[in-house]
Amino acid sequence: MNSPYMGRFKISQKFKGAAHDGLDLVGVDSKEIHSTVNGEVVFAGWENPNNHNQGFGQYIKIMRDGTDQGYYFGHLSEIRVKVGDHVKVTQVIGVEGSTGKSTGSHCHYCVRVNGKYQDINAISGIPNVEYATYDDGYRGPVATAEPEESYTVGVVYKTQVGVNVRTGPGTNNPVKKRTELTPDGQKHAYKQTYGVLKPGTEVRCLEVQTVGNDVWIRIPSGWICGQYQGEIYVK
Ligand SMILES: [Zn+2]
Repeated sequence: MNSPYMGRFKISQKFKGAAHDGLDLVGVDSKEIHSTVNGEVVFAGWENPNNHNQGFGQYIKIMRDGTDQGYYFGHLSEIRVKVGDHVKVTQVIGVEGSTGKSTGSHCHYCVRVNGKYQDINAISGIPNVEYATYDDGYRGPVATAEPEESYTVGVVYKTQVGVNVRTGPGTNNPVKKRTELTPDGQKHAYKQTYGVLKPGTEVRCLEVQTVGNDVWIRIPSGWICGQYQGEIYVK
């Protein structure tokens, strides 16, 4: 069985073909929604930004690699991916919710090919029994997002936002004082106590480290974050 959950979940409405083209699933152990496929996020947002009670509300559509199958995760309270992301099976993509046309927290899970619904029970292995509770059974590792930006030692990049210069890679390392940066770093830092480089500063990469999903770069003045929670700070 391959479900968007890890651990137990309930079925609050079964698959009825055109009358209900997916399964309504309710997380029991966790409300986190995991990708059921490797694929590309082609939609992540509100079905209707002007009416949050319409349709799927906040939803994600993932095109499964090498197929024309679109996997839909509807009614989410939170979205943790964006269009263009490549996601892997088990990666957390969002959180169950009750947005859109919904009367309680659940995830509408369905697969369509060119707009035509597919047999979600056959695809997922989830039985079509209303109000039953199942256990996804998967207890293995959860995939993490792939860094989008990679850095090469010796190459000069540019800060895209104001970036803190820290004593080490990771936000648990303190931000350096401005006076602790190199003379060139100080020239490009905001005139304040702590060392924060202005956007547009050219920085030479001396070392790269990945911390969780984030990518850190050592520059002559210290460590700065190149990619933080999917946002590109340096490129
Ligand atoms: Zn539904």
